[in-house]
Amino acid sequence: MAGFTQLFVPGPTNVPETVRQAMNMPMEDMRAPDYPTFTRALFADLQKVFRNETGRAFIFPSSGTGAWESAIINTLNPGDRVLMSRFGQFSHLWVDMAERFGLDVDVVDVEWGTGVPVEIYAEKLAADKEHRIKAVFVTHNETATGVTSDVAGVRAALDAAKHPALLFVDGVSSVGSIDFRQEEWRVDCAVSGSQKGFMLPPGLGFLSVSQRALDVAKDATKNARFYRCYFSFEDMIRANDTGYFPYTPAVQLLRGLRAALDLIAEEGLDNIFERHNRLAEGVRKAVAAWGLDLCAKEPKWHSDTVSAVLAPEGIDSNLIVKRAYEQYQTSLGVGLSKVAGRVFRIGHLGWVNEVMMCGALSATEMALRDCGVKVAPGSGVGAALEHYRLAADQAAIAKAA
Ligand SMILES: *Cc1c(COP(=O)(O)O)cnc(C)c1O
Repeated sequence: MAGFTQLFVPGPTNVPETVRQAMNMPMEDMRAPDYPTFTRALFADLQKVFRNETGRAFIFPSSGTGAWESAIINTLNPGDRVLMSRFGQFSHLWVDMAERFGLDVDVVDVEWGTGVPVEIYAEKLAADKEHRIKAVFVTHNETATGVTSDVAGVRAALDAAKHPALLFVDGVSSVGSIDFRQEEWRVDCAVSGSQKGFMLPPGLGFLSVSQRALDVAKDATKNARFYRCYFSFEDMIRANDTGYFPYTPAVQLLRGLRAALDLIAEEGLDNIFERHNRLAEGVRKAVAAWGLDLCAKEPKWHSDTVSAVLAPEGIDSNLIVKRAYEQYQTSLGVGLSKVAGRVFRIGHLGWVNEVMMCGALSATEMALRDCGVKVAPGSGVGAALEHYRLAADQAAIAKAA
């Protein structure tokens, strides 16, 4: 088929041309004398995206899941009590991992379409006078349901209870796209991956850690009961401090990361967050104009990186996704696990702009009609176009003022 295939799954996301070209390179020596000059700047700039000023960042040749694992095995011990919540496939998988590692997991199950229950966390932390809870987990952006949670609220709950538990955040589909402030919120372990807001192919897991997490990891090493090898902080720190890695790094992806971090710095994090909000709001306007609902129950949960849309009663959302792909060369995200067949997802994160989003909405609208959903032609796309036009105007007016 002619033309581009349109990619609107919430990861892997579209890779900018400059990033792709930066990775089209002859192989290089990862032990070259000048390699540390390259890696030191890379670590420093990666940390900036997390707004982590006093800790450090690790880069693993893994997907985001590897960074989840690294956070757990380096700072905790088997049997440690942790507080988690589950409201989608990704928060579920992190719970599953914690259970498989033998942590004593207190899981709060809440309705899918809502997020981290800050009030329940606050109650549990206040009641835990003996400080048995060692870590509190937050899935910042649940990619399966398009729900963003309140990390600052969880930090406030920890502080109100004067609770020393570590704060872990899954930021795989939020860091670099939605406001995230590791230093200010005192997040101890923040996980991300290359293939979402970082605009790279899959293959790198990022773990940005606080100084406190590093101290706890050192302590945990003394009486370590988890075996640590590939994902060990200690090995990474020893090698990274010299500008190298304990094993072969993904050299091409690291060159791509350099180009992606340059793009992020050029646009500026705050402008990137604003763009994601603008693009997301246009998608939400389209969904409303179609007369459809989001999986996210209330505006406070709305995600600026992915929208999960409920298919009308009696219509299999998989058919809408399949139709968009086969007929209109457009990849939308399917519903996962509990919401399989019920939602389809539109990713609006990373290297995207207004006109690209209108393409995604056009394909969605055609596929909806093809599948028998009675939406008026142009209704959703029209609502988005108008939002984008006015929002661009307002941005220009604000800049000129
Ligand atoms: C994509 C995603 C993951 C999984 O990351 P992988 O890179 O596939 O291991 C975890 N959490 C969230 C919120 C995600 O969106």
